[in-house]
Amino acid sequence: MATFDIVTIFPAMIEQPLAAGIIGRAIGRGTLDVKVLDLRDFTTDRHRVVDDVPYGGGPGMVLKPDPIFRALDAIEAERGRPLTVILTSPQGARFTQAVAQRLSGAEHIVLLCGRYEGFDDRVRERVTEELSIGDYVLTGGELPALVILDAVARFVPGVVGDEQSVAEDSFSRGLLDFPQYTRPAEIASGTADARFASDGDDAVSGEGERILRVPDVLLSGNHAEIRRWRKREALSRTLTRRPDLLDGATLDDEEAELLRELKGARDGRD
Ligand code: SAH
Repeated sequence: MATFDIVTIFPAMIEQPLAAGIIGRAIGRGTLDVKVLDLRDFTTDRHRVVDDVPYGGGPGMVLKPDPIFRALDAIEAERGRPLTVILTSPQGARFTQAVAQRLSGAEHIVLLCGRYEGFDDRVRERVTEELSIGDYVLTGGELPALVILDAVARFVPGVVGDEQSVAEDSFSRGLLDFPQYTRPAEIASGTADARFASDGDDAVSGEGERILRVPDVLLSGNHAEIRRWRKREALSRTLTRRPDLLDGATLDDEEAELLRELKGARDGRD
């Protein structure tokens, strides 16, 4: 079981999304234990104030350190040490699939959601990791906390039904996932917009409507060929969209060979 404590001034922003889908079911089964704490419950004044003006002046408000320390003390008293305390921040290290996998091994995780101009810097004293979900600034840490929890939870055994599907996801081996199709094997696209067509060999029917077909190999029942096609597609997508990933990818012999072919074909076209 994995346990999370999320500290926020907007508990509903966390609770509602967590109730749906795979994460909601995992919480229902007890595979995940998620507690949402309202930072205002850890204030001592009548108005439950969590923010104050910045020392030195300037715009905006800053989250006061004392309610956060009290919240962490309460969590520690309940869960015991050591806590993995994650501060959500655009200044943090980039959150990646590798970080998600590593964190899934932590006994339990505290996520601190900032607001306004962020936290009083002394909060960093109690933080084990500062994580950013990307190079942009959001109004609060609730969405980042949900993103981190969701990605970490997928690695917790029993959360996603099929462990194999987690292992094969994009990034897990340093490659993007291969394209997926489901029934029907043929479908007419309603609008005749060629921009959304996957490749050039789909037939054009009456009135410019396009018939989109699932690649033949996937209907062939030839498992060796399907496996090879999927490897090739994963490599080719990664090479086109995210060549930076290939440096860190772990490839088997067949994949290394396919990648050489793909690169050769590409160089030939240049
Ligand atoms: N002035 C701060 C940004 C505050 S944004 C700065 O420039 O560093 C308010 C809160 O939103 C932050 O405290 C953090 O909890 C959250 N947040 C915003 N963007 C984020 C990002 N890219 N990743 C993680 N958390 C983020």
